Amino acid sequence: MKLWPFGSKKSNAPVTCGELPVPKCLKRYFVPELGKCSMAEITGDIRCTCGAMAFKARRSEDVGLRFSLTCSSCGEDILLFDAKQHGWDALVCGIVPDDEANDETSEQCAKCGHEEFRATVWIEACEREEFVEDIPEGLTEDDWVNAYGWFGAHLTCVQCGHRVRDWADVETA
Ligand SMILES: [Zn+2]
Ligand SMILES: [Zn+2]
Repeated sequence: MKLWPFGSKKSNAPVTCGELPVPKCLKRYFVPELGKCSMAEITGDIRCTCGAMAFKARRSEDVGLRFSLTCSSCGEDILLFDAKQHGWDALVCGIVPDDEANDETSEQCAKCGHEEFRATVWIEACEREEFVEDIPEGLTEDDWVNAYGWFGAHLTCVQCGHRVRDWADVETA
């Protein structure tokens, strides 16, 4: 077997769930697809603390400002992404959008009209070293998981299986 001759920061060593760069606000809900997760990128489904995986999905009318879910079983609200507080630009550079995410639209399945979805989230993490080198004021080392570079989400209609690809797709660095 020939080894790649150049050093790579990305290691293929298996990582455990607890080590993954899951943003703090999603820790309680994120179910990692371990085969697709590394310290550089994570993919997984959202599960409510009540165990349910069907949600009403809402996003701001101004694309990319805010994405959230509401559990169909218990009504818990889960904030997935808010451009004012999540991601590298907001946390490290202090760049936040001026617009307020006031108007929100609920997603409806384009095929069957149903309004409940499963949500799969993927996040591209930042380099921990880069973050730790110069930690912004008011933050700690642990905040690096919140300073990610890309946030995305797909939805799947629980009734007909129709997929809403890239329902969320926000570059945050
Ligand atoms: Zn619930
Ligand atoms: Zn549907």
